[in-house]
Amino acid sequence: MRILVIEDELKLAKALREGLEAEQYQVSLAHTGEEGFYIAQTESFDLLILDVMLPRRSGLEILANMRRLGFTIPVLMLTARDAIEDRVRGLDNGADDYLVKPFAFPELLARVRALSRRATYDAAEKLRIADLELDVIRRSVTRGGQILDLTAREFELLEYLVRHHDQVVSREMLTRDVWKEAGRHTPLDNVIDVHVARLRRKVDDPFDEKLVHTVRGVGFVVRQEQDRDQG
Ligand code: CA
Repeated sequence: MRILVIEDELKLAKALREGLEAEQYQVSLAHTGEEGFYIAQTESFDLLILDVMLPRRSGLEILANMRRLGFTIPVLMLTARDAIEDRVRGLDNGADDYLVKPFAFPELLARVRALSRRATYDAAEKLRIADLELDVIRRSVTRGGQILDLTAREFELLEYLVRHHDQVVSREMLTRDVWKEAGRHTPLDNVIDVHVARLRRKVDDPFDEKLVHTVRGVGFVVRQEQDRDQG
């Protein structure tokens, strides 16, 4: 497991490297944004620990650029105690998690472990139910060997439903986990229903067996029909 740490405070960077190496991680250090951005593009890493307050090129800028270039590497951001705006912007720009300085090293380790578990879990996966197959890396979907043309949002929605197959997924869950708008005051129900309807047209309409089901008043469930209703 290779970790790139971009941190300009030399003492902290050194402590992070020593601590992580003691846990058998391979660690590379960069002390400026430019250097970090360069290393991240030229070598491959499993996790990026990124300080927000960097000289010249901020961590947020680096993160936004990387995501724009299609880097999917998990990113743990380090932010200052009172910079709530940085945290929000960081998460908006594609950070996976953040830690507020100063932090206890065991807490950092716990976050690193959580993010690396997520990375391997995601990387390993092709999701299948019935004759539907999702390739989470390529973000492509086939059913019965036929390629389905989904938008990014439709893919995320389908991936979420398939990961939760045989469980009812509520619109609140979709708002929080797929649309990532947990704090909304006005419900997204109509938007969600429109997307589910479109998803169904692509995933279910051309096929006999229906996989996406509505549970009235509760939400949706992806499951194989056990007893096909002939009526
Ligand atoms: Ca700094």
